[in-house]
Amino acid sequence: MLIHADVVVLGTGVAGHAAALVAADRGADVLVLERGPTVGGSSRKAGGGFLFAGTDHQARAGFTDTPDALREDLLAAGRGDADPATVDTFVAHQLATYRWLGEQGVDFTLLPTPRAGVLPRIHDTVPGAVVEKLHERLTEHPSVRLITEVDVQRLVRRPGGERRVTGLEAETKGRLVSVVARSIVLATGGFSQSRDLVRTFAPDIADAVPLGGPHNDGGGLRLACSLGARLRDMGNLRATFGASLPGWSASGERVAPRLLYPVTRGAVLVNRRGERFVSEDLHYKLMSSLCAAQPGAVAFQVFDVKVMRRGAELAGPLDFAGARRDGALAEEPDLTRLAERIDVPADALVRTIGHYNDAIEAGRDLFGRAHQDFGEPGGARVEESPFFAFPCTNALTTTFCGVAVDRELRVVDVFDEAIEGLHAAGELVGGLHGSGYLSGSALSAAATLGRAAGLSVTA
Ligand SMILES: Cc1cc2nc3c(=O)[nH]c(=O)nc-3n(C[C@H](O)[C@H](O)[C@H](O)COP(=O)(O)OP(=O)(O)OC[C@H]3O[C@@H](n4cnc5c(N)ncnc54)[C@H](O)[C@@H]3O)c2cc1C
Repeated sequence: MLIHADVVVLGTGVAGHAAALVAADRGADVLVLERGPTVGGSSRKAGGGFLFAGTDHQARAGFTDTPDALREDLLAAGRGDADPATVDTFVAHQLATYRWLGEQGVDFTLLPTPRAGVLPRIHDTVPGAVVEKLHERLTEHPSVRLITEVDVQRLVRRPGGERRVTGLEAETKGRLVSVVARSIVLATGGFSQSRDLVRTFAPDIADAVPLGGPHNDGGGLRLACSLGARLRDMGNLRATFGASLPGWSASGERVAPRLLYPVTRGAVLVNRRGERFVSEDLHYKLMSSLCAAQPGAVAFQVFDVKVMRRGAELAGPLDFAGARRDGALAEEPDLTRLAERIDVPADALVRTIGHYNDAIEAGRDLFGRAHQDFGEPGGARVEESPFFAFPCTNALTTTFCGVAVDRELRVVDVFDEAIEGLHAAGELVGGLHGSGYLSGSALSAAATLGRAAGLSVTA
């Protein structure tokens, strides 16, 4: 089968949808190829928080923020490792992307920050809702064709030694497909499902629970590498703390591992000995290496019913009520019985929580945690029955590294020369995060770089 298209987009996460829709709206005939049987990748599983700066939502809430301030914060978070040109590309397009998502019918809510003095930038959506909204438009668009269950085997360059990519070869349901195209956009996400690639770049986290999209196995990365793509940030691959431990459940029934963060709403973190080991305020990426160092690489989030109430009506990693319903949490009327349920020494747990509550009264914390009461007098104390806990470990949600791109989102090779006809967007792009990460910037980058790639291939 031979297919002609102006633009081919690989992948159907937020980045692929944004690239395809923008290119199609600007007159291109677009073919979208998805590896899996369903669309959405990690974008469908994500928590739903998008980082944007200078938005109407912020202005309405009385906050003054600017793209320049965001640029500074991204570079600071990257601790000197982020690529300033990629950060600039993201910053230049992010506000227009926030508006574009609004035009596609995406509803945002500005999330308050848990800490005073920090600008709220996370624009929250219902998890998976953005993919659904964009997908509705994609399936109705007269200039977009979508084929799922496609295995792209190689990129094709024009014969005669020319560098320009002119198409690809693939297989779908037993049939070979040749595609001829003006531009290809790789929007294939990260590679958390490839133990082989994770072991290559970050062997110390090869056992982290893979939570990214089910087909995010680095196919796009391998295609780009086959043409000599330069890689960025590979040494900055980090796990994310906070996945519920696979194989454990309170009910004994099988419960799928998930990211769950009562720790951001007042839960205390202890290890198998029932001892605290970290300030619970620490960023979940930094927390991951400390969790890995605990016995069995396991930690327990322990909390009371006040924390449970704080998750009411929240979604994704803050949906504590959903986790309770699914049997993902041990629940007991007192700490002694709770400790027995999670197999932690009861005397140690009771002592740890007692010291923790005393430290709140004294206004200081052994690990420097800033105790927040979330507007309830005594709200920081862990004291109101019933009590909850679950074991958690490190996950790999997002790989935060990948191919280097120029300002037009063209993939560049190891000599920093653009590979004509080959663009990349979303999580596959390296260089934006450096050695740190601002929460919400992954989804925001998927939408922003996807939209920018769609503009670039139709310029
Ligand atoms: C559990 C979880 C929670 C998260 N929460 C947040 C959050 O709250 N905020 C935030 O900013 N980020 C979050 N992230 C990260 C964020 O979701 C991703 O970085 C972002 O969605 C990536 O979007 P993408 O479009 O680049 O890739 P994806 O959404 O992963 O899409 C990639 C698509 O490409 C397909 N594909 C893969 N290989 C091929 C191939 N060879 N050919 C064709 N198709 C292919 C995949 O099947 C998939 O559909 C979270 C991630 C996870 C897993």
